[in-house]
Amino acid sequence: MAVPRHKTSKMKKRQRRSHDALSPVAHSTCPRCNAEKRPHRVCGNCGHYKGVEKIKTAEA
Ligand SMILES: [Zn+2]
Repeated sequence: MAVPRHKTSKMKKRQRRSHDALSPVAHSTCPRCNAEKRPHRVCGNCGHYKGVEKIKTAEA
């Protein structure tokens, strides 16, 4: 197996890891109940997506 000849410098390590940050989770509001939800997902509060009830919830 190949063995590195030189220790990776702090600068090279930090340059490599500059792309490793996680991006914040995207969110939007439900047009029906205004609860916060993720885009392109059924609303977890009212169970609706594009005006149609997709899952049964206790509310509504
Ligand atoms: Zn909703």
